[in-house]
Amino acid sequence: MALIVQKYGGTSVGSPDRIKNVARRVAKFKAQGHDLVIVVSAMSGETNRLIALAKEIQAQPDPRELDVIVSTGEQVTIGLLAMALKEQGVDAVSYTGAQVKILTDSAHTKARIQHIDDANMRADLTAGKVVIVAGFQGVDAQGNITTLGRGGSDTSGVALAAALKADECQIYTDVDGVYTTDPRVVPEARKLKTITFEEMLELASLGSKILQIRSVEFAGKYNVKLRVLSSFQEEGEGTLITFEEDSTVEKPVISGIAFNRDEARINVIGVPDKPGIAYQILGPVADANIDVDMIIQNVGQDGTTDFSFTVPKGEYPRALKVLEEVKKHVGAREVSGDDKICKVSIVGVGMRSHVGVASTMFRTLAEEGINIQMISTSEIKISVVVDEKYLELAVRVLHKAFGLEQAV
Ligand code: ASP
Ligand code: MG
Repeated sequence: MALIVQKYGGTSVGSPDRIKNVARRVAKFKAQGHDLVIVVSAMSGETNRLIALAKEIQAQPDPRELDVIVSTGEQVTIGLLAMALKEQGVDAVSYTGAQVKILTDSAHTKARIQHIDDANMRADLTAGKVVIVAGFQGVDAQGNITTLGRGGSDTSGVALAAALKADECQIYTDVDGVYTTDPRVVPEARKLKTITFEEMLELASLGSKILQIRSVEFAGKYNVKLRVLSSFQEEGEGTLITFEEDSTVEKPVISGIAFNRDEARINVIGVPDKPGIAYQILGPVADANIDVDMIIQNVGQDGTTDFSFTVPKGEYPRALKVLEEVKKHVGAREVSGDDKICKVSIVGVGMRSHVGVASTMFRTLAEEGINIQMISTSEIKISVVVDEKYLELAVRVLHKAFGLEQAV
């Protein structure tokens, strides 16, 4: 018998039938004798609908009121799931974030959890009830409703598991685990039995949308045993996110390949090579609230240097405009760019102890005639920017080159 926190995402509770299905699943775990706290998202599409509705009234929605509005999505699903469980003869009780008392700071639309009061939940669990909690929301010290940012129900689940010292936090979603890469691009992609927190963090920050990045950080920090599973399959162990490399198994050097089509490259050419230049270029970009990802500055020659960075594709036109101003200001020769690019990354903790990973990656791409425009690395990741028309090819050949289709 264990205390398990289960989180069900929007597609898993996307219709009354699916909610009944979740209730059946929960009832099964309950019958096995487990204590259960269930966190749910809003029905799929609902949060988007509510945001659009708010924007019809106010183009830039007031953040406090927006939280009041979007938090209702989850309030509906907790009530529906509690009813579905009761219909199946299982005693259940629903709580909004404020009712649990998931205390957050006051940063509306991106609040952070500060404390969770577990008294109500404990009493209900002791009384044999299934506890259902609205994901994505909390309450600040003044009693205002807050939300945790898009995809925030994952973080609610992990935070509740941490607060309750649960044996496991299970994230149920529409995929049955974490794959070596997107199976839509590489049909041979393989589901991973385990992946380390660090690898999962890299994958999340590289654009894998399986888990909200904050939830992975949270789980790592509070030692929460985290598992990703499918809510549509009866069996399966999903992917367990582990703390250390499992030393009993020979792990491949690379665990996964991530890619992101949503980037554009900007080059600032012939800028004076002097202190403060990076700040003068990127300061205005940050002031315009544009996220910068990869940054590369060349070694200066003849007193000038070149500077390149990537921004989200949607921000490309705005970033170019900002840079035209910067160009005049810093005296750059030219500003150019390309929004037909993508980023492909290989991730693996095995990189720390293996040499030649980068050269294998570069040779593999060279053999296909794929030109690398930018490179950036971390201890467990190598990312390259290439022409977007090569995305599928690059991911496929790298998947093969690193032997990711082989079962381990
Ligand atoms: N419903 C929220 C969203 O769509 C939170 C979540 O699903 O995790 O972002
Ligand atoms: Mg999600």
